[in-house]
Amino acid sequence: MPIKPHPKLMQCPNCGWQTIYAPRSDALIEHRPETCPKCGNKELDIKQAGIANLAISLIASLLKRN
Ligand SMILES: [Zn+2]
Repeated sequence: MPIKPHPKLMQCPNCGWQTIYAPRSDALIEHRPETCPKCGNKELDIKQAGIANLAISLIASLLKRN
């Protein structure tokens, strides 16, 4: 039985940039952002993303449109 991939919430403590990183279960090598695309910070916080994080991230991206 394959293990479900756990989406991760990646946050930049410098500028507040964040993204949800969801590794594919069939990928042998995980490719995830290692630096912040905004400020180049390499010390990204990585947390397990729960359904609440996913919802918040979606809402935040909608609110940032203007
Ligand atoms: Zn940053």
